[in-house]
Amino acid sequence: MTKVRFAPSPTGHLHVGNARAALANYLYARRQHGVFLLRIDDTDAERSRPEYAEAIEHDLRWLGIEWDESFHQSSRLELYAEVAEKLKASGRLYPCFESEDELRFKRDLRLKQGKPPVYDRAMLRLTPEQRAQAEANGKRPYWRFRLTDTTVTWIDRVLGQRLVKLTAVSDPVLIRADGTPLYTFTSVVDDIATEITDVIRGEDHITNTGIQIDLFGALGFNPSRLSFSHLPLLTDSDGGKLSKRLDSLTLRSLRGDGVEASAIAAYLARLGTSDDPEPLGMAELAASFSFEKYSKSSARFDISQLLTMNRRVLHMAEFSDVADRLPTGATEAFWLAVRGNLDLLNEARGWWDVVAGEIVAPVIENEGDYLISALEALPAEPWDNFVWPNWIDAIKDATGRKGRALFMPLRLALTGEDHGPELRDLLPLMGRARAAERLRMAAA
Ligand code: GLU
Repeated sequence: MTKVRFAPSPTGHLHVGNARAALANYLYARRQHGVFLLRIDDTDAERSRPEYAEAIEHDLRWLGIEWDESFHQSSRLELYAEVAEKLKASGRLYPCFESEDELRFKRDLRLKQGKPPVYDRAMLRLTPEQRAQAEANGKRPYWRFRLTDTTVTWIDRVLGQRLVKLTAVSDPVLIRADGTPLYTFTSVVDDIATEITDVIRGEDHITNTGIQIDLFGALGFNPSRLSFSHLPLLTDSDGGKLSKRLDSLTLRSLRGDGVEASAIAAYLARLGTSDDPEPLGMAELAASFSFEKYSKSSARFDISQLLTMNRRVLHMAEFSDVADRLPTGATEAFWLAVRGNLDLLNEARGWWDVVAGEIVAPVIENEGDYLISALEALPAEPWDNFVWPNWIDAIKDATGRKGRALFMPLRLALTGEDHGPELRDLLPLMGRARAAERLRMAAA
């Protein structure tokens, strides 16, 4: 049974990179009829905030992602403490007392000597007396994991064979001096305890994977039972490295800008894959999901492509999909008339004013006589489906105009815009009184 987890740290709002990883987990789980776990990695009390955890859940639901199980790591501290004791007993977790300053000094020294700036494991040689001495001086140890001196390899489902040389990596701190267990550790404990089968996350976790595979082994778990998939990072549209700008592109800010959740999901689900972006729902995206389709190189997040997707989603959206976000009173006929002209849903408000509210109609220079003729040709109510063609025929007869010269002054007068939805659809919605008033004003 496939079981995946999306494991955000609640230290900020979800950005598009996080959302892409969440989607890959979710779509893969759905395709496999497996289980999707939402795990909130909040053991780091200094950096985690409950309001971010809540916002993450809200953003995921908004995006269309539902989870089968969920927990906060902060509710499992006993388990982590228990497992940590085992690692201490086996000597893989060792106490350290060096300060940040001491470590920085040693790092600089190694760099000057042309050596890699890896932690020198001085504390492994600490005698019980020295430790007692340090503790007597009021110091509390933090705990590092002793990595094996090996090179860890795995077959990544996206990136292919990968290796991490652990000798080039510092023994990671797993437990802080205040007892806080850190993500590198708690993640492995939970991946084992919750029987995760597939770890799917960003390429920035490659070194972590090397470390964590070693940690799985130290906990007596065979890491080859897990499959790893690392998604190449997103770059901004200039092809630059994942920039701060992209980091700040959160689901929340996109929602505030009026971008559709389903457009974001459809765009991100296929970004950096060999499938064309299509405005598909989750079920269809899941059916076509495959790690083999991901490119091994970074993918370009292009806001203009996202907006294109947004347009495509809106053009297909049913009235019932959007009714609760349209201006009060908006009808299905209105929606069908305007949806093809929207980049963002909130632009519907402007068109609603055109058909049901007030607009400032421009005075159209030198077209007064024409507009008055058009006004005189405007059919009397009640209007039927033929009001538009009937009116146009009458105007043609009365003025001899055709094409742009006929239509553009009408469009400007009736909508205040030189482009937009079909006048054929808008005119019946705005009604005779409103249309007549605008023609009169534009002619003045
Ligand atoms: N909490 C980690 C993060 O947000 C989880 C990464 C993972 O293992 O998926 O980076």
